Amino acid sequence: MDSIENIRNIGIIAHIDAGKTTTTERMLFYSGIIHKMGEVHDGNAFMDWMVQEKERGITIKSAATICEWKGVRINIIDTPGHVDFTAEVQRSLRVLDGAVGVFCAVAGVEPQSETVWHQADDYNVPRIAYVNKMDRVGADFDNVVSMIHERLTENALPIQVPIGKEDKFVGVIDVVSMKAYYFNHDPLGVKYYPEDIPDEYLEQAQTTRDELLEKISEYNDTIMEKYLEGEDVEEELLKDAIRYAVIHEQFVPILCGSSFKNTGVQLIMDAIKDYMPSPLDTPPIIAKNHLTNEEKKFYPIPDKDFIALAFKLEIDKYVGKLIFIRVYSGTLKKGETVFNRTSGKKERIARLLHMYSNKRQDIEEVKAGDIAAIVGPKFLRTGDTIAKTKGDFLLEKIVFPETVISVAIEPKTKADEKLLRESLKKLEEEDPTFKVSVHKETGQTLISGMGELHLDIIIDRLQREFNVQANIGKPQVAYKETITKTKEITEEFIRELSGKGQYAVVTLRLSPFEVDESKHEERNKFEVKVSPEVIPQHFWNAIKEGAMTSLLTGPLMSSPMQGVKVELIGGSYNEVDSSEVAFSIAASLAINNVLKDIGARIMEPIMLVTIITPEQYMGDIIGDVNSKRGKISNIRDVKTKKEIVCYIPLAELFGYTTTLRSLSQGQAIYTMEYDHYEIVPTSIEEKILKRVRGY
Ligand code: GDP
Repeated sequence: MDSIENIRNIGIIAHIDAGKTTTTERMLFYSGIIHKMGEVHDGNAFMDWMVQEKERGITIKSAATICEWKGVRINIIDTPGHVDFTAEVQRSLRVLDGAVGVFCAVAGVEPQSETVWHQADDYNVPRIAYVNKMDRVGADFDNVVSMIHERLTENALPIQVPIGKEDKFVGVIDVVSMKAYYFNHDPLGVKYYPEDIPDEYLEQAQTTRDELLEKISEYNDTIMEKYLEGEDVEEELLKDAIRYAVIHEQFVPILCGSSFKNTGVQLIMDAIKDYMPSPLDTPPIIAKNHLTNEEKKFYPIPDKDFIALAFKLEIDKYVGKLIFIRVYSGTLKKGETVFNRTSGKKERIARLLHMYSNKRQDIEEVKAGDIAAIVGPKFLRTGDTIAKTKGDFLLEKIVFPETVISVAIEPKTKADEKLLRESLKKLEEEDPTFKVSVHKETGQTLISGMGELHLDIIIDRLQREFNVQANIGKPQVAYKETITKTKEITEEFIRELSGKGQYAVVTLRLSPFEVDESKHEERNKFEVKVSPEVIPQHFWNAIKEGAMTSLLTGPLMSSPMQGVKVELIGGSYNEVDSSEVAFSIAASLAINNVLKDIGARIMEPIMLVTIITPEQYMGDIIGDVNSKRGKISNIRDVKTKKEIVCYIPLAELFGYTTTLRSLSQGQAIYTMEYDHYEIVPTSIEEKILKRVRGY
C-alpha cells in the first residue's frame, strides 16, 4: 500500500448540497476507516451513528483524510463547495492528482460546479463524474449526462446504467464488466457482488457499452481493431484503455448512485483505484528559481532530493498546529530539520502524521507522492516550499485570488484591543485569503476577504471562538492600483551610516502586464536580467524584497499594486561597502520614485454573476445589469427558466439581493464570485479619489 503506484490523491468537487459529505462518509465507512463494519448490525444503528458523528463534529473536516480500498491508499483532499471559498478549492486542486465531480441527479450541473470544473481544467486534473441522488423524485440520469456534455465536456460518457430510479433505484450495471450490482441485499449496501444483467436492461447496457468502446477505441488501436471486427473486448484491456484516456484528460467516465441510500459507493472507489492517476502517472513537478526563472523538474522518486509543498495549515485540538504537505520528491523522516525555502527559516519536524478521518497515526517517514501532516514548524505557512537544503528553487506558489472586500474593525473596549490583534493574527495564519492591514492614512485596522459571507464567518468566529467583541464598519471594495507606462530608473544609495559606508546602485525597468487569472500567477513579477558580474547573486533577493515591498502601497490611494513587472537590468556594487540592506533600500527608493510618474490607475474587482430567473423578469434584470456597468456574457435556458451570465463591478453589487428580489418578485436567484480586476473608467476614478482624499 505504501508504494507510490498505490496512492491516489483525489478531491471531491461539488456544488454545495450535491452530496460530497455523504459520499465521503460512505467511502470512509465502506473502507472500514470510521467504523468497524462488523459492529454495525442494522441500518438504524448505522444512521444513529451517523447522526452522533455529525453532532460531535468529528466527521471529515480535515484537509486530507485517508481511506484504504482494495490495496490502494486514497488520500481524500477536502475541497469546499461555496464560491466564497474558491481559494480553498484552488489550494486543493494544486495538490491533488485527480477528482470526482459529484452532481445531483435532479438539479444536474449547477453554476458553481461549472466554475470548479473549469478551475480543474486549468490545473489539468483528470476527473470522474458521479451522478448522486438517483433515489430522489425527479432523478434523471440522461439529463445530467447531456448537461455535462453541454456545460462541461464532450469527452464524458457513462460507464454505468442505473437500475431503476427514484424509490425504485436499487443498483447499477457496470458496462465495462457487463455485470449488474444490487445494493439492496442488506440495509447498509455492504453485500454486493457481480450478477447477471436483467433482460430488460440488456439492450440499453449494450448500447452504452458500444458508445464507450467507440470513444475509447480512439485511444487504443487494439480496441479499435476488435471493435471494428466485432470481437470481444476483454475487461482488463478496456479498463487499461479507460485509465489511459482519463489520465491524459481525454475522457471522463460517468457513474451513478445514491450515497444516502448506500447504492453504488463502492464502485466509485473501484473507479478511483482503476481510473485515477497515481503520482507516477502525473507529470513531474516544476520548481522555479524565483530570481532567474530557471526551471528544474522533480520526479516522484523516494531516494532523490526531498521537496514538498505546505498546502494547508490547521489548528488541531490535540496536537496544535498541523501543516499538511504534499511530498513531490524524496523522503522526509520524523525528527529531521528542513529549510523553508520561501522564508529562509530552518524548522524541525517533531512529528509526522497520517490522518484517518478523526484518528491520527504517527508515522516515521513520508515519501514522494504522499500527503502527510507535520507537527513542529513554527513559521511555515500555506504555499511555502520545504526542502532539506537551502536554495532558490521553489515550487509554484499557491496564488490565491485577491481579497475583494474589506471592512474596518475596532475593539469594543480597550480591554479587547490586545486580544483582537492576536486573534486576527491567528485567523490570518490559518486562512491565506483573509488579510489584516492598517490603513496608512487613517490608521484604521482593515480586514479583507473574498466576499461578504467570508468576512461574516470570520467575525462570527472572533466572537465565538476567541471571545472578542468588536465594532465593524461598512463593507468596502478593495481597490488596487496598476501602471500603464514602461519606465527605467536608476537609483543609488551611497552614504555613511554610523561610521560604515553603504553602497548600492540599481537600474530597474517597470512595465505593465495583464494578470492572467486562469494561470493563478503572481500579481507582480520580478526578474533578474543582469549577470552576477554586474551585481553579485547574493544581493538579488534583497533587491527583490525592497522592490516588492514598495509595490504594496500604490501612489494614488495607497492600495496594493498589481500587474507590475520589475526587471533588474543594471547597477553597480563595491566589495567593501555594498550590503543587502543598501540594495534593498536602493530598490525601494527606485520604485517609490518611478511610481509617481508611470501612469498609475485604479483597478476594481469585477464579479462573475449568474442569475437564474423566470423569463418574464429577464428584461428588467438585464436593464438593471446594464445600469450597473455590467456586461452580459451569455443567456441560456435552464429547464423552464433563463440563466443570465454577466460581469458586474463589485462596487455596484452591494445590496443586490434586495434589488433582485424586487425586480423578480422574489423568484430570481443569483450567485457571484470574483473574476478579475479591471481599470476603472476615468470618471469613476475621479470620484473615488475625491472620496479618499476628501477634496
Ligand atoms: P455537501 O454539501 O455536498 O457536502 O452535501 P451533503 O452530503 O451534506 O448532502 C446534502 C443533503 O443531501 C443532505 O441532506 C443529504 O442527506 C442529502 N443527500 C446526499 N446524498 C443523497 C442521496 O444520494 N440521495 C438523497 N435523497 N439525498 C442525499
